[in-house]
Amino acid sequence: LLRHRLASTLPRKFKIAFEGCPEDHVAAAINDLAFFAELGPAGERGFRVLAGGGTAIMCKSGGLLHDFLPAGELFRAAEAVLRVFHRLGDYQHKQRNRMKFLIKAIGWDAWHAEYLRELAACRESDAVPVLAIDPPDVESQPSWARGAVPTPALIATRVAAQQPLGPGITPTLVPVYMPGDESYVRWRATNVRPQKQFGYLLATATVPLGDMTSEQMRVVGELARAYGDGTVRVTPDQDLVFRWIAVSDARELFRRLSAASLGLAEASTIANVASCPGAESCRLAVTQSRGLGRLLEDYLRERPELVASADGARVKISGCPNGCGQHHIATIGFQGSVRRLGSRAVPQYFVMVGGGTTVDGASFARTAAKVPARRIPETLERLIAFYQRERQEGESAPVFFQRVPLERVSLELMDLQRLTEADAIPADFVDLAETGEFAPVVMDGECSA
Ligand code: SF4
Repeated sequence: LLRHRLASTLPRKFKIAFEGCPEDHVAAAINDLAFFAELGPAGERGFRVLAGGGTAIMCKSGGLLHDFLPAGELFRAAEAVLRVFHRLGDYQHKQRNRMKFLIKAIGWDAWHAEYLRELAACRESDAVPVLAIDPPDVESQPSWARGAVPTPALIATRVAAQQPLGPGITPTLVPVYMPGDESYVRWRATNVRPQKQFGYLLATATVPLGDMTSEQMRVVGELARAYGDGTVRVTPDQDLVFRWIAVSDARELFRRLSAASLGLAEASTIANVASCPGAESCRLAVTQSRGLGRLLEDYLRERPELVASADGARVKISGCPNGCGQHHIATIGFQGSVRRLGSRAVPQYFVMVGGGTTVDGASFARTAAKVPARRIPETLERLIAFYQRERQEGESAPVFFQRVPLERVSLELMDLQRLTEADAIPADFVDLAETGEFAPVVMDGECSA
């Protein structure tokens, strides 16, 4: 599909997601096309298909296109959608020319009728061939010649020797040569899952803000060859996943990741904050979202009791409404914005709660408050305390923030929203991780995520 003849002449970008599990891991429903692996009535392989999802200034969960599409029809369905978008999409208005706007403009029924027409054309005389696809039920163990294993001491020396160059926020390198048992136990609990194949694990290397040095990347490659199948996968949380880690190798992998300053735990917790590039490099940004990401991650990692009490919650940050940090589908999301105070500008964030995705679709976070950037750590702490105080028995944070009335959340944050010229302090006029007066300049261009 990437090399499809229509792909380079579509009205706008077009995103496709695949989910292979009964649970959603890739936020599939916010993509233009989403394929969820399913078995048909006779056990045949196929997909449930959604279309027309997206976030930014118009949040939409993908609509149901097929309850079950045989796997062989994958290209036909995708091409039919591309053809409709190519033919009827808006080539004039850049701010509203994703496929979801086309569906809204002509209505789902009319769009769907166009889709069915194109699908029939794709099927006709094999205009688009059936995809021959018959993978084995369970992926078999790779047979590989393992790479040499670098020692933790050598890794630590190499990684420490290459200090990153600025400007902007750069990775914090703290190689840990001899991590303790407690660190390993926590890492196993939050960063490791059993693989389908007995005796193997999936291990996540937490990469704060998704930033790595080139030497860390070299080490990751060596570890993937030494302990895994020679590959790593990038996750929507900006981390890296190693597959095919033998259970007996988990501790040795952890030692070496720690030596490379990549052994942080908390991959599956609220402490693993994700952020878009923000004002550091994006022409459309309002705020320095990575500055907030760094601040919150450091703040949470120093408060394990807070992390432990935010059951299942995730924090995501974007520097503007476009939502590349996926804050619209976070349990607690922050969207960068600006507030005028007299003649000066204050960086602030929309505080949004209750977003999330499942295999059935996406629910989008609701705006509960607008809080100056400097006060966001306290905002987060209040929200976690609120959840602890008001939750029902056994209720997770994502479920709680979807259920709780928005006015209740706003009330919790009311005093943090208020800022007058009289009570503002100099730090209120400086964006996080910046030094100069906040003066947002939003330029024309593309987002940099
Ligand atoms: S356009 Fe995307 S990357 Fe840029 S600030 Fe907005 S959300 Fe972040």
